[in-house]
Amino acid sequence: MGRIECIGFIGLGNMGAPMAASLVRGGYKAMAFDLDADRARSFAAEHRAQATTDLAELGRHCDAVITMLPTGREVRDVLLQMQGGALAANLRKGAIAIDMSSADPVGTRALGADLAARGLDLVDAPVSGGVPRAKDGSLAIMIGGDPDAVAAVKPVLACMGSKLFEVGSLGCGHAMKALNNFLAATSFAAAAEAVTVGRSFGLDPAVMTDVLNVSTGRSFATENLIKQHVLSGSFATGFALGLLAKDVKIAADLADQIGVEAPVGRLVCALWGDARDALGGTQDHTRAAAHWEKKALREAAE
Ligand code: NAD
Repeated sequence: MGRIECIGFIGLGNMGAPMAASLVRGGYKAMAFDLDADRARSFAAEHRAQATTDLAELGRHCDAVITMLPTGREVRDVLLQMQGGALAANLRKGAIAIDMSSADPVGTRALGADLAARGLDLVDAPVSGGVPRAKDGSLAIMIGGDPDAVAAVKPVLACMGSKLFEVGSLGCGHAMKALNNFLAATSFAAAAEAVTVGRSFGLDPAVMTDVLNVSTGRSFATENLIKQHVLSGSFATGFALGLLAKDVKIAADLADQIGVEAPVGRLVCALWGDARDALGGTQDHTRAAAHWEKKALREAAE
């Protein structure tokens, strides 16, 4: 497994860039790669890191690779297919891939088997806390994988997160993350609906939020999203609607795959899928509240 000194960081987006910056601050050498080469270049210029567009070069130089990509599909693509599969072919045996994206746990297990056949380890380590906690290195990280591989990558993860949880075998981190985001998406949708109903009856949504935040209806959504991003009209959390809709679907599909009835999951999955289809996946996820409200009021008027 060997000492990890140089890390290939793949996906320098809203989350990846501040997370990679934490690694550099923690003393690791970083080599950045992104499909959007300008993102990797500007990260490297700002943080005394290297950028590359050549996955073979990244594989030769790095002891570990971190992926922070939209879905498990891109993770598999970068590790095994892109540039003729150059990354997996050039990493040394025993190198570890750490997937910090929010990916599908069943796909993660399949990817782990494919990497193991090439002498590579995979650890899943998705995160929670959003862009602000990515910036200050205080993410919650849910880690799944072989215990030796997990022990080897924990010092790396500790640069990016302050709460590290070992939640089980490979894929368990991704399952935990999808279930967390299912709950977050459910409470956001419920809070948005409560505000729509309350406003229509004559309640002031800002006052409603204050009441909820000191009452049993409070949630991350009421404390951090409704006033700050929905009522203010700023819609600027940095977490895309398409990504949250994807996470809720991963949780609902997981229940299906293992034969567990999850009626709330299906309902919430349909609500977020409808908002994504209407608004587009790149919008901030908090815009879903405005979409649902418009739809509810239109339906009420019909
Ligand atoms: P993002 O869209 O801002 O960044 C993704 C980056 O990946 C982009 O720079 C894009 O160019 C790059 N990319 C896409 N396909 C690629 C490929 N095939 N090869 C190389 N690079 C590629 O997304 P984000 O908000 O940083 O989210 C990344 C992951 O983290 C997602 O799985 C998301 O669900 C999860 N997540 C996001 C947040 C958040 O608040 N934004 C919080 C927790 C977890």
